[in-house]
Amino acid sequence: MKREWSRQSQYNSFNSYKGLTYYEHYKKIVGWLKGENPLPAPIEVSLDPINKCNQKCYYCNSQRYLRENPANLGGWSWQYMNDLLYDLAAQGVKAFCWGGGGEALLNDNLRGLTHLGVDIGMEASIITNGVLLDKFPDLHRCRWIGVSLDSADPEVYKKVRGTDDCEKVLTNVSNFIQENDGKTDVSFKLLFLPETISTLVYSCQVAKDIGVQDFHVRPVDLERDDYHGDGPIEVNKSEANDIFAQCHEMETDDFRVYTVTHKYDEYYKVKHDFRGCFASPLVMQICTDKKMYACVDHRLESRFEIKEWGSDQHRKLVQGIDPCKECSRCTWGEYNRQIEEVVIQDRMCRNFP
Ligand code: SF4
Repeated sequence: MKREWSRQSQYNSFNSYKGLTYYEHYKKIVGWLKGENPLPAPIEVSLDPINKCNQKCYYCNSQRYLRENPANLGGWSWQYMNDLLYDLAAQGVKAFCWGGGGEALLNDNLRGLTHLGVDIGMEASIITNGVLLDKFPDLHRCRWIGVSLDSADPEVYKKVRGTDDCEKVLTNVSNFIQENDGKTDVSFKLLFLPETISTLVYSCQVAKDIGVQDFHVRPVDLERDDYHGDGPIEVNKSEANDIFAQCHEMETDDFRVYTVTHKYDEYYKVKHDFRGCFASPLVMQICTDKKMYACVDHRLESRFEIKEWGSDQHRKLVQGIDPCKECSRCTWGEYNRQIEEVVIQDRMCRNFP
């Protein structure tokens, strides 16, 4: 694996070898695919509580929500989310993430529900643009929050994200960290884009200065079906590696840099080095239309809808997915590989520690 983090922080949340800790769960998924046992509850559930956004990122991975489905799917009610969280906890789900459909914090009904979800036994997290971070105090109960920033330079931020929110977001995150006392891991998420390249090192320094723990940069995926702009971008690899190296130089025990490139090929383009969609049942994706889909990368696509968790329809759907033909970058690509090569083929000779 290329150097993506320092040795001190190699056991980190972004390391795809984390998947091997799900070995027992992997086995149950494989058994379910063979019809030998029921499918267990997912470990995590990703929730999209509203079909609306307050920013206009041109590369947005919620395009199906915001552009292809402008017919507003609305936002979830407090009662629906309350009941859903109780139901998920009862099923044994370990964690939930407020995702998108746009920007989750535009749904006012979310107030207090992170608190509730944690109180009934799950861990919580959120991916947000951070503009409304100060309006939801119970986000301090999150295990982690990921703030999509792209650049700490207000002009570049505006070019990419379409708004003047950069300074507000930086202030919100700085205040959150000061009030939080290290209970929640805070990460900045940046995409390696033609517009952001020249400010990545500066953004890394800003992140460090305001106390962000994790600085996460990855190449953008513009090979997705739902993206209709000019893509994919050509990445100058030596320039990218030089920038990544400068960011890594800033690492300390309390400030970690992750340049996540292992999910891409040597030119930082989408790769598929696995054959099946084995890992998707680790996480349940529930979209704003209240339907389940196979994964975050196929939200709102009827072909990928799951009618009932663990049903024959679900099994046939997963078995029938051809990642090379139907998927762009797969969030679970390395996990798919682990199930195939470690669980099914036992290439690691597991009985010989
Ligand atoms: S991107 Fe494709 S292979 Fe990956 S989890 Fe989604 S459906 Fe499965």
